[in-house]
Amino acid sequence: ASGLMAGKRGVILGVANNRSIAWGIAKAIHAQGGEIALTWQGDALKKRVEPLAAEIGAHMAGHCDVMDEASIDAVFANLEAKWGKLDFLVHAIGFSDKDELTGRYVDTTPDNFAKTMQISVYSFTSVARRAEKLMTDGGSMLTLTYYGAEKVMPNYNVMGVAKAALEASVKYLAVDLGPKNIRVNAISAGPIKTLAASGIGDFRYILKWNEYNAPLRRTVTIEEVGDVGLYMLSDLSRSVTGETHHADSGYHVIGMKAVDAPDI
Ligand code: NAD
Repeated sequence: ASGLMAGKRGVILGVANNRSIAWGIAKAIHAQGGEIALTWQGDALKKRVEPLAAEIGAHMAGHCDVMDEASIDAVFANLEAKWGKLDFLVHAIGFSDKDELTGRYVDTTPDNFAKTMQISVYSFTSVARRAEKLMTDGGSMLTLTYYGAEKVMPNYNVMGVAKAALEASVKYLAVDLGPKNIRVNAISAGPIKTLAASGIGDFRYILKWNEYNAPLRRTVTIEEVGDVGLYMLSDLSRSVTGETHHADSGYHVIGMKAVDAPDI
């Protein structure tokens, strides 16, 4: 194979369907000659992931629910047996109870706070620790975050607190793994209508607001985020680690409403 990812092998966690950000990244990596392994969460999603894996010749590495340590171990044992080493890892996983992605942050329950943090924050550290052992020639790890980590966004609530912790963990992981030439970065993606996003209250309003006010006057696609992922996972970004890179049509630089938006 030729291309920016030729000779590189990696695992992508978080493909749920063809609208997933993880799928946008998988397509970009595949187009540049990278070899990909996918995981899935439960049998229902396996049915959706299987045909997508076939489309890009990806290896189906196993069911992975990050709340279940044994399932994570099984996936990494599978990858070790299949390839012996890894060059990249993509973590595109997040979850919070839909009932708490609306209303006030102050009403977050302890159970959902802990669950949101375990699935959306700790799981990146958990898979990074396992991937480190297989990244014997260095590597690149990537996670997905959102501007709600930096500024308060309506309804994002506990997920914003989790993304802030995720972005901090990117920096700590970058320092831990840097001596092994393993890079750790995040993409802060603009809002995209995905399965996970459908749980967030008034998400269509957030999309419209971004479209009208981002410097580029449009929202982003999974293909665009995929291309930024390609940069982060390829050697083009070999000097970059510990970074949260915005792929949001520039929305994060805006301090005030830019354009009249009569219909929102
Ligand atoms: P998605 O629904 O397509 O993907 C979310 C994935 O998380 C699914 O594949 C799901 O199976 C997985 N997941 C949830 N709980 C899990 C668990 N316990 N174990 C294993 N996997 C689990 O939605 P998406 O928008 O592509 O989300 C991917 C990432 O991008 C998330 O971290 C999300 O917060 C982030 N993100 C999304 C947007 C957006 O607007 N869609 C913007 C910025 C960042």
